[in-house]
Amino acid sequence: MKATNIVWSDGYLKSQDFENTLKQKGCVVWFTGLSGSGKSTISALVQRMLYAEQHLAYVLDGDNIRHGLNKDLGFSPEDRVENIRRIGEVAKLFRESGIIVLTAFISPYRRERDTVRAILDEGRFLEVYVHADVETCKQRDPKGLYVKALAGKIPEFTGVSAPYEEPLSPELVVDTTKETVEESSQKVVDALRSRNLI
Ligand code: ADP
Repeated sequence: MKATNIVWSDGYLKSQDFENTLKQKGCVVWFTGLSGSGKSTISALVQRMLYAEQHLAYVLDGDNIRHGLNKDLGFSPEDRVENIRRIGEVAKLFRESGIIVLTAFISPYRRERDTVRAILDEGRFLEVYVHADVETCKQRDPKGLYVKALAGKIPEFTGVSAPYEEPLSPELVVDTTKETVEESSQKVVDALRSRNLI
């Protein structure tokens, strides 16, 4: 090529280009539910099931967000809203690069979940309600957080001293008191497939 000052008039590549490469559609699977309901467990298995089919899915969870991007935020209602707002914006960037984003946050407020839905394209946001009653979650208590919260050592703990607002019309509900981890995860993969996202 002789010319030296090449300017691409079309600008940057588009989502569609990445999606063609990855053979999947960028989207956000937003798991919501009480602490201990199974969001992390299910998102980890969904990620592996997708990987086995050569799909690229990235999990955003408390560890990679609260320790980095959002380490300045706490658990007050205002900080929870800002926490989710930032996560939504990051998820949107990932989605635009063709990646299937799996998010595993309690995200207890309907309004904040709807805020994320509003910034994503129609059909590219799947709200998955990971349902388990608070008694079951207390018994599981995988991180020992309910014991601490019930002893008053964690203020504003969802399900104990802070509210959880159930989704009104999620794309999918998984009931982890009745389904196995495998069954719930398969339902999520099926939901992606039936929408032609994979
Ligand atoms: P969350 O991310 O929602 O806080 P975790 O996935 O960290 O929840 O913890 C859920 C706990 O419940 C894990 O210890 C998991 O092994 C257990 N568990 C028992 N049955 C199920 C099920 N059917 N689905 C998901 N998790 C389950």
